[in-house]
Amino acid sequence: MARATLIDGKAFAAGLRGRIGALAAAFAQVTGRRPGLAVVLVGEDPASQVYVGAKARACEEAGIASFEHRLSAGTSEAELLALIERLNRDDAVDGILVQMPLPGGLDEQAVIAAISPDKDVDGFHVINAGRLSVGQPGFVPCTPLGCIMLLKDRLGDLSGLEAVVIGRSNIVGKPMAQLLVEANATVTVAHSRTRNLAEVVRRADIVVAAVGRPEMVRADWIKPGASVIDVGINRLPPEEGKEKGRLVGDVAFAEVSAVAGAITPVPGGVGPMTIAVLLRNTLVAAHGHAGLELPEDI
Ligand code: NDP
Repeated sequence: MARATLIDGKAFAAGLRGRIGALAAAFAQVTGRRPGLAVVLVGEDPASQVYVGAKARACEEAGIASFEHRLSAGTSEAELLALIERLNRDDAVDGILVQMPLPGGLDEQAVIAAISPDKDVDGFHVINAGRLSVGQPGFVPCTPLGCIMLLKDRLGDLSGLEAVVIGRSNIVGKPMAQLLVEANATVTVAHSRTRNLAEVVRRADIVVAAVGRPEMVRADWIKPGASVIDVGINRLPPEEGKEKGRLVGDVAFAEVSAVAGAITPVPGGVGPMTIAVLLRNTLVAAHGHAGLELPEDI
């Protein structure tokens, strides 16, 4: 049986981080400072702590200064907004990332709105969402930008291809659809109210699954040869005698691999791209703040 090509996000992300490292070093030579990313974590959510730690390590490895701000779960919105205001004014800080979700009682939209759009390396600010929707340069959310990089690397020109994005969140589904439209694909956005989802997905040359439901997308939903990008990260309940359950995506990887032309694994597909693109956006922000052109498009 034909097997899909594995889209190796881990390897692609490593290459991207290498290019970012070289460009960050060149930036430091010219400006006398490293690009800087401030990461703000409120509370003690274990998954968020892991993500923040991974982001800080990736920054250091790429020659990007990372400024961590860990605040207690009891932090007030006024205190958090005051910190963001300080970071907005701090010339050593090119990018500001506030790790979501925030503890209850803190208004995520108000916090995102407080970040200077030119330091909004997550691309969540309405100004950047607006820029993406009208096709102006701005910061694009890291996960969908990583997905489009993998698709262009695999397929080259996406013009005229049928793409189905499953999921319509502001951080993945919607920006993903806009990037695909920008790349001249014909795009359908599916969600929990979509009728005959399997039939809709079967039209697609490109499937992007960003749902959060383990192994929902089955082999008989997939057009033979389609490229499948699995954004989902779901932990299954632990098997007998194991402490932790397996991580799986939104796509039934083993069976879909027998039909698709190419597929991202979970883990090792989209996840590593998200962090690499965060570094990329920080590098772009740093060049913007220093009034420098990026020497190459990354
Ligand atoms: P959200 O929960 O914000 O959005 C999920 C979307 O899936 C919604 O639009 C929802 O529809 C849709 N949906 C839910 N159930 C169904 C269904 N049965 N059929 C069709 N659509 C459905 O999630 P996110 O976009 O934030 O994340 C999606 C997944 O991606 C998660 O597993 C998350 O962990 C993962 N993720 C991975 C990242 C990475 O780096 N790899 C980064 C970000 C997220 P509706 O709008 O109608 O409710």
